[in-house]
Formats: sequence, C-alpha cells, structure tokens
Amino acid sequence: MNILITNDDGLYAEGLRVLAEVAQQFGDVKVIAPDRERSACGHAMTMRDPLRMRRIEHLPFEGYELNGLPVDCVNVGNTILFPEGCDLILSGINEGPNLGFDITYSGTVAGAMEGAINDIRSIALSMALFVTGAPLHLDTARRWLAENFALLCELPVEAGTFLNVNIPSIQYDELRGMRVCQMGKRVYKDRVEERNDPWGRPYYWQGGVVVMNPSEQPGTDVEAVSEGFVSITPVSLDWTSYDAITKLRAAMPTHSGHSGIL
Ligand code: MN
Repeated sequence: MNILITNDDGLYAEGLRVLAEVAQQFGDVKVIAPDRERSACGHAMTMRDPLRMRRIEHLPFEGYELNGLPVDCVNVGNTILFPEGCDLILSGINEGPNLGFDITYSGTVAGAMEGAINDIRSIALSMALFVTGAPLHLDTARRWLAENFALLCELPVEAGTFLNVNIPSIQYDELRGMRVCQMGKRVYKDRVEERNDPWGRPYYWQGGVVVMNPSEQPGTDVEAVSEGFVSITPVSLDWTSYDAITKLRAAMPTHSGHSGIL
C-alpha cells in the first residue's frame, strides 16, 4: 500500500513523526510537508509561484519539504512521489483539534479533502488539545492509531468523502473508545481583538475564545472528544444542503420551472 502523508504544522512537527512511524508498519510511506507551519490556511493552493520540493535526509522516514501548503503537498506528492498512484493519504497529526465548522479553516483537513477530490481514501487526524501548553499525549495517538489503522483503511467510505478523526489529548487508559459522529459547532467570542502598536495605531488579532457547552451538542464530534472518545466524522465534499433545495424549490415562483403545475 502506497501511503502519502502531509500536515499543516510543517515537516518537523512531532505529530507528523508519530503518524509516519505508525503508517510505516502498514505500507510504503512518503512524507511531503510544508517547510514551515501553515495552520489555518484552509483549502488554499499555490498557483502564482513555483513550488520547490527538497528531500530532507536523516529523518526517520522518507521526507520532503515543499514551499507550499498542504493541498500543494498532496498534489505534488501524488504526482511526483507516487507516479504509480497512491492508496491512502493521511494528514496530521495536527497539534490541536479540528472539530465542527473549524474544519473549513484547517490546512490539515484540506490535505485530506484534496485526497478525496483525487479519489483516494483520505484521513485527517488531529489531537484534541484545548489548552495552550497542556501535554500533547501523542503516545495515546500512536497506540490508538496502531490498533485501529487497519480498521480506518477498511471502513466503508463513499467517493467524495473523507474521514476527520480527532483524538483527545489524554492518557491512553483514560480513552473511552471511539464514536462515529456528526460535525458539531465551535462557537467563539471575541474573534477579533483590537490592540495598539507602540505608536498608538490600532491593529487587529484574530483568535478568540471558544464558548460552548459540548453537552448541548449530543452526537457531535465536539461532545465525543469532550467525553474522552476518539471522534470519526465522515465529511462529504458535496456541500449542497438537500433540505434547502426542497424548500427553495417550493418557494420559487411558478414560472421558474420548479412548480408542480409546470
Ligand atoms: Mn496545524
């Protein structure tokens, strides 16, 4: 099995190393990752600048750095490193959660999304760590992933769909299992903060504090990780709201061609 690995934290991230270490037990692994941290770049791709790939020696895996984004890494890796095609794309393990609507910002998730667009089984993996500086229990991820790697490769996943996995950053023996769940909501307050530079000119910093009660979102990834479960969310590239289609068609004027009369 040919396995391509990327992330958005850069080639030297600890989570990437753990992911490659486990994946190497299951197939031929090549890692291509951004040359610096590119978190929160979403599904952006580089089109106006040349991409340069460089083999980095003395890594515990076959690794390449690219002056691009996770989507660039998947496309260059898939085309150049695996000309014979690749069977699995893994993105992560991100340092921090990718839950709910936040996945639209995520470079980690975008890597998996690009894999799904290319019709390759793809999985985004993140450590659900909520407090800056709290311990990153990558050992938990290593163990959970080794035990469930084959399962993740075999789960029935439809075309145009990828898996978004979040592993709670807790001790392995505190882990309560895994849940397949729907995407929840991450609600922020104080998203944009105004500050002043030393010359008194305002500048703005985006971040914000998460304000929400996971127990108010039963059945979601947000609730699952807060209760100590690994969350597995199938995400479809088809963003159409089928519910809205029905309602919009019903609300259309009769001459639009959607009336039952015509
Ligand atoms: Mn990241």
